[in-house]
Amino acid sequence: MREINNMSHTNLPGLPGLQPGTIYCIGKNYAAHAREMNSTIPDQPVVFIKPLTSLTLDGIIRIPAFVAEPHYEAELVVAIGKKGKNIARESALDHVAGYGLGIDVTARDIQHKLIKAAHPWFLAKGMDTFAPVSPFISADSVDDPQQLTFTLTINGEKRQTGDTSLMLFPVSELIATLSRYVTLFPGDLIFTGTPEGVGLLQNGDKLQADLQSGRTVLKARVEITN
Ligand code: ZN
Repeated sequence: MREINNMSHTNLPGLPGLQPGTIYCIGKNYAAHAREMNSTIPDQPVVFIKPLTSLTLDGIIRIPAFVAEPHYEAELVVAIGKKGKNIARESALDHVAGYGLGIDVTARDIQHKLIKAAHPWFLAKGMDTFAPVSPFISADSVDDPQQLTFTLTINGEKRQTGDTSLMLFPVSELIATLSRYVTLFPGDLIFTGTPEGVGLLQNGDKLQADLQSGRTVLKARVEITN
């Protein structure tokens, strides 16, 4: 495994033997967030990817100073455990190894410019360290991924509350849809979209995201860098 963000990490935390693969992300998967973005409600999943170099396991989000509006987006993250193509929705959850939380860090100012130019979101979403993730809990210990709640606090103040029953496209449908286009591999991650309440990050901010009131916790700190 190559070294990423000062870590020669081998496994996804909490999932022994599973190395991180492709990082898929779903945009606008909660209606209230689509509305706060003045965006339409999608009729099929909006998919983009982040490179492996955006993965952050050491808890430091490094944001280049040229980003005017860095935003947080707390999201449920699905870790794939079993290879598959054309996965049926009914068996899709059998392909999940674990669940965690992540922050889809977004350069909102850059994203708006890209959208205006009809360009992909990639540069706004894919910078180094723009995908911190928590340790994962085993999928076996989760009865229903659509019955999970999570919160994000920044410097102790609650900013986002997530309720996965409100996803426009549930995890099983995301896996079924994605796997019509790409082969999913063990270690691939799916960021499943953010609920409403996104906002600005500032230098020194301390983020804490809790899944099911602390069943797993993501802690991260913001550093604005040159
Ligand atoms: Zn997002």
